[in-house]
Amino acid sequence: MEKNMLKPENKIFKNLYNQLGWEIDHAIKRDDWKDTKNIISKGREWIINEVKTSELRGRGGAGFSTGLKWSFAPKEVGSRPHYLVINADESEPGTCKDRDILRFEPQKLIEGCLIAGYAVNAHICYIYIRGEYFNEGRRLQEAIDQAYEKNFLGKNACSSGWDFDIHIHYGAGAYICGEETALLESIEGNKGQPRLKPPFPALVGLYGCPTIVNNVETIAVVPTILRRGGKWFASIGKPKNTGTKIFCISGNVNSPCNVEEEMGIPLKELIDKHAGGVVGGWENLQAVIPGGSSMPLLPKKICDTITMDFDSLIENKSGLGTAGIVVINKDQDIIACMARIARFYKHESCGQCTPCREGAGWMWRILDRVVKRKATFSDIDLLSDVTKQIEGHTICAFGEGSAWPVQGLLRHFRKEIDSRCRDEPLIKKRTNNPYLVDQHLLENKNA
Ligand code: SF4
Repeated sequence: MEKNMLKPENKIFKNLYNQLGWEIDHAIKRDDWKDTKNIISKGREWIINEVKTSELRGRGGAGFSTGLKWSFAPKEVGSRPHYLVINADESEPGTCKDRDILRFEPQKLIEGCLIAGYAVNAHICYIYIRGEYFNEGRRLQEAIDQAYEKNFLGKNACSSGWDFDIHIHYGAGAYICGEETALLESIEGNKGQPRLKPPFPALVGLYGCPTIVNNVETIAVVPTILRRGGKWFASIGKPKNTGTKIFCISGNVNSPCNVEEEMGIPLKELIDKHAGGVVGGWENLQAVIPGGSSMPLLPKKICDTITMDFDSLIENKSGLGTAGIVVINKDQDIIACMARIARFYKHESCGQCTPCREGAGWMWRILDRVVKRKATFSDIDLLSDVTKQIEGHTICAFGEGSAWPVQGLLRHFRKEIDSRCRDEPLIKKRTNNPYLVDQHLLENKNA
């Protein structure tokens, strides 16, 4: 066994490929719902401290400390109820880990909801699931019904003395509803547009009440952490980058897959061992998007040695994000790939902020010109400038999510971009006829 491979006894998601059965009786055999009452009886402070000891960081993209987030919820319930909201809107291209938890390990999530709900004083939990996950939502509802039948949910849930109900809410397919405040707006029946922060949802969230929003995978690992101890989880991986993680590997690999591995595993090992290697061999690798499409890509030179954890990727000007790894080999036109991603973000911007609404389309149109060899060198300077005008100037992190992939391309593939550009602006070609409309503007005017 390789040094960095996860030991079988440390795997949390034993039914990730559904060989053992998803139903509640199978889940109970895998130790789900074991000692839940006992865990809850230890109290809120113990639970939150144990999660802090585990150094668990959110698995939805931002990587914020889960225990710390829970501690932001008011200690006492005032005039307003508290809510727990689970983000199952998994819409990041390249990411499909929560889907397999919902389908094959739903009891881990449901048990985690009860414990987290108790820890943050919430009697009600909403699981916001993307509309396209219709079958997964149906499966989750069946699993919730099974938990109710066993009295694990409802009044005096799991004999813990805590009343707890879970409701599923379906989204309608907008990427931005994965942003926590847009998600809350959507549950409230409004247009899914992010809110300005502060105030943060922990104090003013759903219906103006204290609300903790967590990702599916984050909550699904909590029961195992509390059963085995925060120190056990912290002993896996690297300091501040602890535990196990489900990685989604797609793109130009021989066997695309989801796999649970130790945090901090080398990227090369992950791809070679679990995804059958890069199509055409490792030397045929061009770049990897390591954390879903909103994270900057990394060229092969960095991929040779990089490890998959939050801090190593930040050091290399990228991010772990959702751990959706997209492998791009040398058979692909890297600029066309990134132009396609830019087009996705242009389509998904909610339109509230001018830099994001206008800039996302602007970036796509310039990249499209580069692909078609119609761009000039000044276009590329402009492209770089537009990414900087978006970054840090918007209501939500979508702005960065659209600008960073383009910045990554400019950082690592500038030569390729320049090789497709020309010196003179296209406008010179039409100086003799001021009424002649620039062809590339015409082509993209409806963008
Ligand atoms: Fe909407 Fe983009 Fe502004 Fe986020 S950054 S609020 S997606 S316009």
